[in-house]
Amino acid sequence: MKARRLGAVAAAATLALTLAACGSGSGGGGGAGGDGGLKVGIKFDQPGLGLKKGTEYSGMDVDVAKYVAKELGTSEDKITWVQAPSAQRENLISTGQVDFIVATYSITDARKEKVSFAGPYFVAGQDLLVRADDSSITGPDSLNGKKLCSVKGSTSAQKVKDKFAQTVQLQEFGTYSECLPALATGGVDALTTDDAILAGFAAQPENKGKFKLVGKPFSVENYGIGLKKGDTALCQKITDAIKKMQSDGSLDKAISANLGPANYKPGPGNPPTPAACS
Ligand code: GLU
Repeated sequence: MKARRLGAVAAAATLALTLAACGSGSGGGGGAGGDGGLKVGIKFDQPGLGLKKGTEYSGMDVDVAKYVAKELGTSEDKITWVQAPSAQRENLISTGQVDFIVATYSITDARKEKVSFAGPYFVAGQDLLVRADDSSITGPDSLNGKKLCSVKGSTSAQKVKDKFAQTVQLQEFGTYSECLPALATGGVDALTTDDAILAGFAAQPENKGKFKLVGKPFSVENYGIGLKKGDTALCQKITDAIKKMQSDGSLDKAISANLGPANYKPGPGNPPTPAACS
């Protein structure tokens, strides 16, 4: 009799704990957002895309993240911005340090082994940034013997290793902005990553006249929003938000407001159709 009652109490306690866990803020199962706030991964050092200046965050990815958060029921002031360097993105997602990542994050099969993606919402292409007075690099075919800088864990560095390993020396940093001083002083001959990122760097007032974008893209980078692997409910909600942002014109506005000042125009493949969540 007594044992049975204890059992019932224990069962009720377990149920209460389970219910509490389900209701707590930014959990999985598509339950992220609402009044519990959101932790969102972005880049902190990519002008026009994801940039932190003091306590201000700006860029296309920041605007996309704010729009998506709003659709998930979270207002801007309830977003915690988390720096998401290229090599740390999958880990930040799988350990729950962020609810999702909007950070020039290309959708790839290798990454899909560890995380899920909503999108794409934007298409960029890998390109080269060189010193303004360098006429020896005109595209991916003129990299023989050159020193390149890129970032660990990026598709950009991977492409160099896959395609140009024999002829090119690659230096990898943790973030793209770290490559700029090396490029300016001749430590490397080019910085390679997505054209949208490079255009943003070239247009910075402090870089004016120093660098030029080669303008011969040699990859297709489909930007997605990374989230916990298999969280189809969250993926669906974010996909719906992206589609709404496309159809009501907010995404176009965010693109021109953030990338227009760098004279960047979205290339082929834009606007992309977001894929189905699986
Ligand atoms: N879009 C590429 C990637 O996801 C390069 C830019 C980046 O590293 O964020 O790897």
